[in-house]
This record gives sequence, structure tokens and C-alpha cells, in this order.
Amino acid sequence: MPEWSLECSGCGRHRDAAGLPTVCESCGAPWLVRYPRPVSRDAKDALAARPGGGMWRYRALLPLEPGEEPVTLGEGGTPLLPAPRLGEALGASDLWIKDEAANPTGSFKARGLAAAVTRAWLGGARTFVLPTAGNAGVAAAAYGARAGARVRVYAPRSTPRPLLGQIAAYGAELHLVDGHIGDCGTLAKAFAAETGAMDLSTLREPYRIEGKKTLGLEIAEQLGWHLPAAIVYPTGGGTGLIGMWKAFLELIEAGWVRGPMPRLFSVQAAGCAPVVRAAEAGARRCEAWPDPQTVASGLRVPNPLGGSLMLRALEESRGGAVAVSDPDLVAAAGLMASLAGVDACPEGGAAAAAVRALVERGTLGRLERIVIFNTGAGVLYGRDFK
Ligand SMILES: *Cc1c(COP(=O)(O)O)cnc(C)c1O
Repeated sequence: MPEWSLECSGCGRHRDAAGLPTVCESCGAPWLVRYPRPVSRDAKDALAARPGGGMWRYRALLPLEPGEEPVTLGEGGTPLLPAPRLGEALGASDLWIKDEAANPTGSFKARGLAAAVTRAWLGGARTFVLPTAGNAGVAAAAYGARAGARVRVYAPRSTPRPLLGQIAAYGAELHLVDGHIGDCGTLAKAFAAETGAMDLSTLREPYRIEGKKTLGLEIAEQLGWHLPAAIVYPTGGGTGLIGMWKAFLELIEAGWVRGPMPRLFSVQAAGCAPVVRAAEAGARRCEAWPDPQTVASGLRVPNPLGGSLMLRALEESRGGAVAVSDPDLVAAAGLMASLAGVDACPEGGAAAAAVRALVERGTLGRLERIVIFNTGAGVLYGRDFK
């Protein structure tokens, strides 16, 4: 039996982590992993003595028991790059880019799926299913291949072709759907119910969040255990945002860093902005967004299961939410590439565009330390050029 337990993010119920947990049996909300005690300061000192190891260097803070080996492709350990020229163009003088394109499979989805596939495989699951906007499907296919599992992926037909090609190349069974990721989720759920396959959807199992948590752990360590003022993050299903929120809470509780936690800002596309709409209305939950439209496919999530958790993270960190138009996010991705040398995906462009908006509104100060994310590789979106 694992030494950690699970706490329901909706009703607060606790249970042990035996078996292959999904969502809370009573209220349907996602589980959050709770560790028995804050991790020791010794574990922090040990990190300094042992560089490298990707995200699993933080295994003292991850759901892995002594002797267990992760299913890994060397994910994590991505660069945190100062971006003074991009910052100057956006009006922020201390801007940094966490470049997640450097992960195996080309996006930060590698972190969550490495953790989820590891726990599912150790728990005995041999068939996985998930709905995807693209990058999660690539990562699930690759980590499934690494473990030796069967993987079925449901993706919208409108997903960028190179992403679909990658999913197929890693040997997953790819099913194209005329609809958005919510429609894919319905099919994935039905397949799981029919066959007993493990559903790796965002927040339908507790471990993708733990993998995404390493985003926050890395930023803290890369900045010498001094937290930045703000993190501006392109948000779809919300695992990254919720994972970082959890990471900073755990680091502060363990005494590895001093608070306050960074202000967390969710960035969405104007054509699919359920979190922004709820945050602006002061609501506790998100309403489904009708007819979601954006070229930033990772942000095309009209009804995120983690909506309430995201809103809590934004409020508790004194952050906020901002929507940017498709033309603005595409232009900002171009700036990130040409002024910082980073292979920006449209979602990364959204984060850059949001910085300009937040500085212009006076929500963020020009001199504050701001970290933005390039969540995936632009090359996987198949660009044209003039
Ligand atoms: C999935 C995805 C997102 C959204 O991520 P969440 O953490 O699930 O909100 C953003 N950018 C890219 C490139 C993605 O693949």
C-alpha cells in the first residue's frame, strides 16, 4: 500500500491510494495526492549534490516508493531562459521563458503522462485510453510504448497533422472525432467502461497532476529557491496550473522556499475562455463554453473537470485570468521565436501576449520577475511561412 493517501478536491473525503484510483466515488471531483509528512530539508540539500535526473530528481516529493522505477524518457530538466529582448517588446524587464518544447515528445505533457503511466503500469494496468487536443496523445502514445502497454487515443479531426502523425508513429490506436476534446472524452470514457482500460484523461486519475507539479519545483530550484512574482500560463484542462499551485504549497510547507507563492495567471484563447469568464464573474465553477474555437489546440477545452480547482488556485495566489485573441497569440508566438530563439507553439504565444495585456492594465509591474511558458514545440503545429 502506498504511503501517500488521496484527498477529494470537492468534498474533502480521504481514502488510501491502493489500486488504480480514478475520481471521488461520492462527488466525482478529482483526487489530490497527500503525503504523510512534509519532506525533509536533507532531501533539498541532497538535490544540490546530485544534478541532473530530469523530473525524477524530485522523487522525494513524487508518488514513487523506495525501489520503484519510473517509466521514463528523461522528461523534465528543461531550460528556464532569461528573455530580455522579448521582455522589452512586451513591456516586462525581468521576463523568463520555461521552454517545455525541450521535453521528450515535444511538450510538457511528458511530465504528467510519465507520472500517470508509471503509477498505472505499477498498478497493473496494461491498456490506456485518453482524449487529446494533440500533445497529451503524443505523450501517452510514447510512454505507453516505453512501458509496453496498448494505448487508444481519441483526437479531434482538426488537430494539427504533425501531432496526429506522432501519435500514430508511437504505435497508438488513433481515432479521429468530428468534435472537440469533450466529445473525445465521452468516447474515451465509454471505451474504458467497456474494456476496463485505464482512463488517463486530465484529472480522471490523481497522478498527472503530480508529474506537472515538477514544473513548479524546477522553477523554484532554477531561480535559486526564490519564487518569481508571477507565472503566466496557457490553460486548457488545468493540470499545469493546479500542479504548480500544489508544488508551491508543498515547498512552502516543507520550508524549502519562503512565500508568498507566485501570482498565478491563467491565459486562454478568446474563442474558448471558460476559466476567464468564471474568474471575471467571481464564480466558483466554470460553465461549459459553447462552440470552442482557437488555433491553440491545447487551449480548446470547453468544460474542464478541474475548473473549480483552477479558480481556487488563481484566487489563493492573488492572480487572475486573461483571454487573448488568435491573431494576438500567433503574433506573440512569432515574437517569442524571433526575439528569444524559442520554438514557440501557439499556446506559448498566448502566454507572451497575455504579459503585454497584464502590464498594460497595470496588473503586473514592468520590473517584476515574470515566468511564462512555452508549453510545446511549434514545429508540431505544422507552420506555413510567407
Ligand atoms: C495541453 C496543453 C496546454 C494546456 O495545458 P493544461 O495544463 O492541461 O491546462 C497548453 N499548451 C500546450 C502546448 C498543451 O499541449
